[in-house]
Amino acid sequence: MDDFIPVNEPLLDGNEKRYLMECIDTGWISSEGPFVQQLEERFSKRVGRAHGIAVANGSGALDIAVAALRLGPGDEVILPTFTIISCAAAVVRAGAVPVLVDADPVTWNMDPAQVARRITPRTKAIMVVHLYGLPADLDPLLEIARRHGLKVIEDAAQMHGQSYRGRPCGSFGDVSTFSFYPNKHVTTGEGGMLVCDDPELAGRCRSLRNLCFQASKRFVHEELGWNYRMSNLQAALGVAQLERLDAFVERKRHMGECYGKLLSAVPGLELPEPRRDYAESIYWVYGVVLKDDVPFDAAQAMRRLGALGIGTRPFFWPMHEQPVFCKMGLFADEHHPVAERLARRGFYLPSGLSLTEAGMKRVAGALASVMSGEGSGVSVGEGAA
Ligand SMILES: *Cc1c(COP(=O)(O)O)cnc(C)c1O
Repeated sequence: MDDFIPVNEPLLDGNEKRYLMECIDTGWISSEGPFVQQLEERFSKRVGRAHGIAVANGSGALDIAVAALRLGPGDEVILPTFTIISCAAAVVRAGAVPVLVDADPVTWNMDPAQVARRITPRTKAIMVVHLYGLPADLDPLLEIARRHGLKVIEDAAQMHGQSYRGRPCGSFGDVSTFSFYPNKHVTTGEGGMLVCDDPELAGRCRSLRNLCFQASKRFVHEELGWNYRMSNLQAALGVAQLERLDAFVERKRHMGECYGKLLSAVPGLELPEPRRDYAESIYWVYGVVLKDDVPFDAAQAMRRLGALGIGTRPFFWPMHEQPVFCKMGLFADEHHPVAERLARRGFYLPSGLSLTEAGMKRVAGALASVMSGEGSGVSVGEGAA
């Protein structure tokens, strides 16, 4: 059998090694090193924001965002049920109340109409999350926020290089966050970033990232923060990666198109939406959803693909179905049918920047054979891509 194709393999063939060697040669390896500030300046400029605050990971960025906006007990924060746990965890840990909305069946992002219906006098913020390749529909969401005086946290962890009606994702929140995990378009191994325009808010984020040490009395604390600092080693990778963001986005779009062609004739699959009038997908990952008449679910399809040497990942599992939140008494009797279906019928294919055309053809061939119910060996997409 051919080699296993992993679900993600990053591309590190630019200046990554050179900048890392620079850290070693100069001895600058901690968060005090010069690449951290360089990454903050270049990344925030790239998304059109005045301030960038580099952190240890994207989940920590959300913790900081919630704390920086002073969201706490009694405050309701509206967010999608279909997302990573980090979003709801940040709200719950702050003692605030997570209020969930279902996903749009086409873009898989939070449905603005449901957001409008869940506003109460206690609503303080909307956490907008962009998922899998297309941004959430920001105009109606921002209009709701404006009308009700709500803060907006924009989780753009998967949206490096994406824009909404020509304006960069990451430029829409009072504070916006990114992740640099290896399956994101820009990686630092582990890492993340907050961006914003308000200098005071940026200062709060910086302080919360650094244990809320004080300049004058260093070890006297007025507030609890975290050690969520990013190291110079991580930032060195990030600076090298950011240099090639445009090429990465182009490559991902090409991969999305290529998969689209290879899989268009395979029965039983819903393929990801390539565009809305506000954006072209950047295919953070290439997700597929099994149609309702397919007699097996995502878990079974993924198991069969694994046996054929293809790595996959399930879609997110909805927040209202998380045992940890149910045990806290949260979301009792809530149902969000779109998210429930996506979680059970959706998964994503190998999508890393190192994946070759030949690799994608093998993935598509394996998926076609799984969909046809055969063991292996069906070829698809002849002549495509
Ligand atoms: C990856 C991701 C995060 C978390 O980032 P980490 O760096 O892995 O902590 C948060 N939100 C979304 C939407 C993500 O995709």
